[in-house]
Amino acid sequence: MKMSELFPSSLFNLPAGLTGRGEKYLYQSGIFRTGNTVTLFSLGVELFKNITDAVEEYLKSNGFKKIIQKDPSYQDIIKEVTSPKQLPLFFYSFSGGFHFYLYSIGEKSSKVKDIIDYILKKYIREMVDVVQESEKISKAVIIPQAPFKFFTCSFCRYSTTADYPLKYLPDNYPGEKGKPVEKVFTPSKKTIKDLCDFLGIPPEKTIKTLIYKAYTEKEKNYFAVLVPGSRNIDERKLKSVLKGKEVELAGIEEVERLTGAPHGFAGPVDLKGLKIIADIEVAKMRNVVTGANERDYHLINVNPGRDFYIDILADVKETQEGDSCPLCGNKLNIREGIKIAEWEKFCYKNMEAETGTIYFDNVILALSEQNCDEKGLKWPSTIAPYKIVVIPINVKDEKLVNYAFSLYTKLNKIIPTVIDDRIQSPGVKFKDAELLGFPIFIILGPKSFEKGTAEIKIRKRDEKLEIDIVKVIEKVCELLNLPTKDCCVEF
Ligand SMILES: [Zn+2]
Repeated sequence: MKMSELFPSSLFNLPAGLTGRGEKYLYQSGIFRTGNTVTLFSLGVELFKNITDAVEEYLKSNGFKKIIQKDPSYQDIIKEVTSPKQLPLFFYSFSGGFHFYLYSIGEKSSKVKDIIDYILKKYIREMVDVVQESEKISKAVIIPQAPFKFFTCSFCRYSTTADYPLKYLPDNYPGEKGKPVEKVFTPSKKTIKDLCDFLGIPPEKTIKTLIYKAYTEKEKNYFAVLVPGSRNIDERKLKSVLKGKEVELAGIEEVERLTGAPHGFAGPVDLKGLKIIADIEVAKMRNVVTGANERDYHLINVNPGRDFYIDILADVKETQEGDSCPLCGNKLNIREGIKIAEWEKFCYKNMEAETGTIYFDNVILALSEQNCDEKGLKWPSTIAPYKIVVIPINVKDEKLVNYAFSLYTKLNKIIPTVIDDRIQSPGVKFKDAELLGFPIFIILGPKSFEKGTAEIKIRKRDEKLEIDIVKVIEKVCELLNLPTKDCCVEF
């Protein structure tokens, strides 16, 4: 490949909205561009192929068969199973250009998960397993300001999405001594804020009681959902606690009918006929304020367990930075990143099944983020679109240019190589070579050429070697770990 033929050319003006240094370099180098869609140009295609070809080979060696699907669907595969003797079955497919789908049917072990792990660990240095459900995990790479938000424990690295109800260890909740319940007059104090201002207490000393209806096509049930007054209910968590039933806040009239009080005065004490779902934090609360189920009244010194029972204790509040980790109790921190893979295990028609998706567009993004410096990309030689760039410094020196071209032609037969044939200053050529991240630069300068040497630069280590010009090919083969016999091709 000639540098002058590379399309699109490298670019130093960036559009807004690109995430992280890696994405900026991908864009600048012309590997991909965004506009109406995401386009991978030829450098990007080579990079993509270098990764996915190796992945396909690995999958095939592990018994996965390739299928082609317009849209991913494991159901269409499972329904073709006619006998248990056909199991286990493993397939993979590409859909939507960038995404790789893996399916396993009738296999007890988590083979798809292990394979995704193995594949990604080959390329990506730091990944986080983000628990989405007990049998559903996303793999993410942390990049500041990237769109995927999740929580990570700073101590044990347990990570989870905001909508997953956390499973806390049981606790005996020691607390202050219970005081007797009292009913207090709280005229028109319907909101937590008004109530706290009126009583002179912090929201942490109140319980927020909201009436929800949970329904399926066949049935509808009402629940009182309790969270500390300082927190909000996460309806996605509530939905998973109720095993996927749709949930919706009850209307004003429904609340009045079910609690006997107008909206804003509902509370868990003596709440007849409604099951109580309480957030895990509520069980620890002592001597707190709740609605009295009576207009303009609240109860003070309410204690869970003594004054009302909890039917379902679960994590139903919106996760916040600083909440405790369900595994070790340390603080959870919010993180931003990109999702590079997803895995899910489930049972379908009595068959163990697993699906996994690798998002290769995001894998490329993560790779660029983890393989770059202030000058540009630094591709590992195994995945680099082109491994070598030959840079003739003085394009007016005919002898030097001819030599550069013959070296390029020889190299290109065994290793994907680029020659920078442009009439540009050495500065521009170096800048582009660094931006594009070629693992090896072969620099032919007039002075060294005169002496019969060339300069080899190893981009990753920023190391320079001066090599006898006749030994250049042998040296780059050695640097790229290619067998020496490949270097002895007939030119
Ligand atoms: Zn932890």
